[in-house]
Amino acid sequence: MTEVPEPVVDLRSDTLTRPTDGMREAMARAEVGDDVYGEDPTVNALEALAAERLGKASALFVPSGTMGNLISVLAHCGRGDEMILGADAHIFYYEQGGAAGFGGVHPRTLANRADGTLDLAEVEAAIRVDNDHYPVSRLIALENTHNRCGGRVLGVDYMDAAAELAHSRGLRLHVDGARIWNAAVALGVSPARLLAGADSVSACLSKGLSAPVGSVVAGDRDFVRRARRLRKALGGGMRQAGVIAAAGIVALEEMVDRLAEDHTNARRLAEGLAALDGVYLSPTAVETNLVYFDLAEVDAPTLCDALAARGILMSPTGTTGIRAVTHRHVSAADVERTLAAVAETLRAAAA
Ligand SMILES: *Cc1c(COP(=O)(O)O)cnc(C)c1O
Repeated sequence: MTEVPEPVVDLRSDTLTRPTDGMREAMARAEVGDDVYGEDPTVNALEALAAERLGKASALFVPSGTMGNLISVLAHCGRGDEMILGADAHIFYYEQGGAAGFGGVHPRTLANRADGTLDLAEVEAAIRVDNDHYPVSRLIALENTHNRCGGRVLGVDYMDAAAELAHSRGLRLHVDGARIWNAAVALGVSPARLLAGADSVSACLSKGLSAPVGSVVAGDRDFVRRARRLRKALGGGMRQAGVIAAAGIVALEEMVDRLAEDHTNARRLAEGLAALDGVYLSPTAVETNLVYFDLAEVDAPTLCDALAARGILMSPTGTTGIRAVTHRHVSAADVERTLAAVAETLRAAAA
C-alpha cells in the first residue's frame, strides 16, 4: 500500500493564501470597464470601500504593496527630499531602494526599537532645519504591523503622536500598512482610527486577507490624484481590473475579522516553540501572525530543510533565525503538527 503524504503546512508567508470560493464567484460575475478611463464599476466600488475602511477621503487600487509604497513616497517627496524611516522598514530593506532609484528620494534611517516604533525624540532630532547644506525633510514613514520587528503592532497613541510631530514640523506621515488589518484586529480598533493622523497608507489585500492580487493606497483627494498619475507612469494603470478588484471587496468585507484566528495560532506556535530546548523567542512579543525565532544548536537552513522533508515549510532569515507565518491555510491542528515536527527534528539533530 502506498502511503498518503500528509498535506504541506506552509508557514513561509501569508502571501501564499489562495482566493476563497466567494472571491472566485465574485470575480466571475464582476462588472468591468476600463479603469484607466475610471469606468470600471468594481474597481470604483473597491476604492470607495477601502477609503471608508481606512478613514480617508479617497483610495486607489494598485497591483502590489511595493508599488503602493513607491507611489505614496513619490506623491509626497520630490527629488532630493528626505524621508525619515526605520532601518528595518520594508520600504528601506525590501523594495530595491525604488524611492531613491526612481524618485531621487533621500532615505534617512533611524534604528527601529524592538517593538517596531521609532523613538520620536530621535525622529524630531532628525528633522532638518532650513540650511543650504541640508536636504528638505518631507516625510516620516512608519510600518504597522512591523514585519522585521516580528509583526509588532504600533498602538493608537504612538501613531497619533507620530502624526502630530510630523504635522507640527510641516512633514507628512505615510504608513506602510501592508498588514494594517492585523494591527487593527490585534488592537480591537478600526483601521480608520489607527490611521486617523496619517496622510497616506498602503494596505495589502493579498496577504492574510487572501485576495489573489493587489493593494490599496488611501489619503486625501489631492494625494490620490497625484498617486493616480504616478500609477500610470509606473505602468500600474490596469484596464478591466474589476476582475481582481472583486476579490478585494470580498477581502475587506469578509476576511478581516478572521485574522484573529491567525493571531491565536501564532501565539500557540510561539508558546510551543519557546518551550523547546535550543529555541529562543519571547512569546509575548508575538502580537499578530508573524513568529520569528532563533536556534542555539542547529543552523536555521538545516532545520528548515529537515522540516520541509516532513511537509512543513518555514523561511530561514539568516544562519540562526527562522520566520513562520500563520494564515488561513494553517489550522490549529497544523500548529500542533508543526510543534511535534520541530521537537523531533531538534532531538534528531542533537542525537
Ligand atoms: C509584503 C509587504 C509589502 C509589499 O507588498 P508586495 O505586494 O509584496 O509588493 C510592503 N510592506 C510590508 C511591511 C510587507 O510585508
